Amino acid sequence: MQYISTRGDQSPKRFCDILLAGLAPDGGLYLPEHYPQVTAATLDVWRSLPYSELAFEVLSLYIDDIPSADLRALCAKTYTQEVFGTEAIAPLTKLKDGFYIEGLSNGPTLAFKDMAMQLLGNLFEYELARRGETLNILGATSGDTGSAAEYAMRGKSGVRVFMTSPHDRMSPFQQAQMFSLLDDNIHNITIDGVFDDCQDIVKAVSSDLSFKTSMRIGTVNSINWARLMAQVVYYFAGYLQATQTSDQRVSFAVPSGNFGNVCAGHVARMMGLPIDKLVVATNENNVLDEFFRAGVYRVRASAETFETSSPSMDISKASNFERFVFDLMGRDGAATKRLFDDSLRTTGSFDLSAEPAFASVATDYGFISGTSTHANRLATIKSTLADYGMLIDPHTADGVKVAAEHLIPGVPMIVLETALPIKFAQTIVEATGLQPPCPAKFEGIENLPKRSVRMSADVEGVKSFIRKHAGAL
Ligand SMILES: *Cc1c(COP(=O)(O)O)cnc(C)c1O
Repeated sequence: MQYISTRGDQSPKRFCDILLAGLAPDGGLYLPEHYPQVTAATLDVWRSLPYSELAFEVLSLYIDDIPSADLRALCAKTYTQEVFGTEAIAPLTKLKDGFYIEGLSNGPTLAFKDMAMQLLGNLFEYELARRGETLNILGATSGDTGSAAEYAMRGKSGVRVFMTSPHDRMSPFQQAQMFSLLDDNIHNITIDGVFDDCQDIVKAVSSDLSFKTSMRIGTVNSINWARLMAQVVYYFAGYLQATQTSDQRVSFAVPSGNFGNVCAGHVARMMGLPIDKLVVATNENNVLDEFFRAGVYRVRASAETFETSSPSMDISKASNFERFVFDLMGRDGAATKRLFDDSLRTTGSFDLSAEPAFASVATDYGFISGTSTHANRLATIKSTLADYGMLIDPHTADGVKVAAEHLIPGVPMIVLETALPIKFAQTIVEATGLQPPCPAKFEGIENLPKRSVRMSADVEGVKSFIRKHAGAL
């Protein structure tokens, strides 16, 4: 399998080349040159596989530069009951007939990002050892990505993590999760500023090519193809649990921000998994809902990005969206480049409403969308508890709210759970008056010793911190 850029660069790359790279050299995102097809007969065979074997089968379609035995071992090491809490790894819970929640948040940091990041940690360690190289991962987080990355990379040889976060802006639980990691290869840097300041620092450091090369700077952000690919697996797992035969169709509803999670659903659908609808659920930051309704993609400035009670979806520019647009434009790299590199960069938006392609977004690609507000979120958390006895987190609630508007008799709807309620306790209390349960492994986490360094929003300061701590691994 070769990988190509969404902006037209066709120089062939193999999986392990793009594993450690960020953007393609032309600024585009990597995608496989074609989507491998999975037939009903194959799905029938996959029905009986444990999750780690299913992961191996799906990943094998995309990775041909890691020996099979090694890839199988990496999957087996990653997707264990010990790490993910259940034998099913991504268990389905039935709310009512035809309406399910797929549990993706029982990993080390209680959010779905662990599903991909745990695999990424093991892939990085494997590939760096094979090459005799090391990597310094620099990232910015507003909460879930940073902790998922740190729990995936802690103690791994060859990898060091420098994670910036806005000082005092994350929930107490999120801060405790990250800052209580005392591993030598984990560095938490809190920045006096907001998330965008952290993101700007990461961008500035990464665009200093000589620093980037000499310090071996890498990233784990959601544009990484390996993360997306790992997420494709749980669409298959959800489908196989919700159906008895491989001709049935199901729909998925996905709480969305950067369009990574639902883009994995798009990939699964392109591979032939019988998905009817992909329901994109947004919060008040409804850039994506606006596109799927009106064909206009208009990114928002920071000042126009609302702070909401589903904060991990407070995103005004969906970094993975370009992958879907590339497919929508018939995989025309030049057209995609015009949209993202010309229109978006100069005017902050593009408009596909008059394009014939836009008419196929719902019909050929199955995309529909909706928005959920703070009031919707509270009401959905409350009613899901009252009607089905299940406590869900605010992001998952956005998914349930929008999914409920698109139920079709005879087509099971699977909402992807993106975090556990304990991560967002304040909103759960507001909705229900109840304190969400805390998994035993996190009890008392707020009282553990913590380590982080506080810095001003200064690129040079962060660079010299990295220089000082990026010694031999
Ligand atoms: C990251 C995240 C999302 C958004 O996922 P995308 O892949 O960025 O669309 C939604 N909910 C939670 C809890 C998250 O951590």
